[in-house]
Amino acid sequence: MPTSKTKGARPEWKAARRIVIKIGSALLVDRSTGRLRSTWLNSIADDIAALAASGREIILVSSGAIALGRHLMGLPKGALELEQSQAAAAVGQISLASAWQDVFRARGLTAAQVLLTLGDTEERRRYLNARRTMDTLVAHGVIPVVNENDTVATTEIRYGDNDRLSARVASMMSADCLVLLSDIDGLYTAPPAEDPAAKRLDVVTAITPEIEAMAGDAGSELSKGGMVTKVAAGRIAIGSGCHMIITSGKVLHPLAAIAAGAPCTWFLASSDPVTARKRWIAGNLEARGTVEIDAGAEKALAGGKSLLPAGVTRVDGQFDRGDAVIIRATDGREIGRGLIAYSHEDAQRIAGKKSTEIERILGHAGRAELIHRDDMALSRI
Ligand code: GLU
Repeated sequence: MPTSKTKGARPEWKAARRIVIKIGSALLVDRSTGRLRSTWLNSIADDIAALAASGREIILVSSGAIALGRHLMGLPKGALELEQSQAAAAVGQISLASAWQDVFRARGLTAAQVLLTLGDTEERRRYLNARRTMDTLVAHGVIPVVNENDTVATTEIRYGDNDRLSARVASMMSADCLVLLSDIDGLYTAPPAEDPAAKRLDVVTAITPEIEAMAGDAGSELSKGGMVTKVAAGRIAIGSGCHMIITSGKVLHPLAAIAAGAPCTWFLASSDPVTARKRWIAGNLEARGTVEIDAGAEKALAGGKSLLPAGVTRVDGQFDRGDAVIIRATDGREIGRGLIAYSHEDAQRIAGKKSTEIERILGHAGRAELIHRDDMALSRI
């Protein structure tokens, strides 16, 4: 029986409600045979099922499409041309998604495939869509299995590594914790293979130049997901109020191992995801317009509700869906800022109208909220 003396995980692990887990190709696919490592896959599926059963919301970011696809296509070993890896991804993604579906189904869970490109996580208009869709999946207890849409993402618009993609997903989804399962159990002061005195860091609280130097030189980076992209992921995660763990995925049941206090490096965020997101909305985005709201809507917002078109008395400025706008009272006071779900033309047309009338007015169904409460930062009123 474990006693209270057993070294367990940090409290941040126990407190994390929404967790993003990034799994690299080398863990999932046997390099020499090109087949799935099914014992390992089943072990992590057990861990995920246990976390889900304890009420955690899990989002997976799974690599492996190219590694599986190149084998199925009989492509030669060694570096692939961009077109070849894009083709291999198209082939391998089917097997990858189906493998996750099988292991989750066997545990009574449902998987969903989500393929993203850089633009989907960086452009706010599309970001709002991806966020809402994934929120809906998670709310239904479904496990999103995310990968980059390698087949259509060309060089300029692709991440190319799932470390940074997973950090963007964690940020977009306001996750509490991101786990990068790696072939090494954390960030070391120097490459351990070259320097016997290298030490693993337990905790990183800021991405300083020293930390970046430990990750090595981006120019000498050969693998897609080396330490450079992991530290870049750490910067994105902690800036979004999300803690990040780098730990070894080379063991069976790597997530249960975290709970048991396995060696790892924690990147600790100083704020929480909701505060970080609100701060981003309130402070970092240039407002493209203004919506003026009536006293009833002001009261609703203060009570934690979303802004509905019915409460809007005036719309100014030129903005697109997903842009930041200022929310004002009729006396001109700034009430807050938020990401608006409609363009200025559409917002003008539905202002003052009931949400049930949106479809008739615009000719297509839209969101009931003009600004969702999760996309809003209120000033002190
Ligand atoms: N998206 C790539 C794949 O599924 C993997 C990228 C990475 O390994 O970071 O093969």
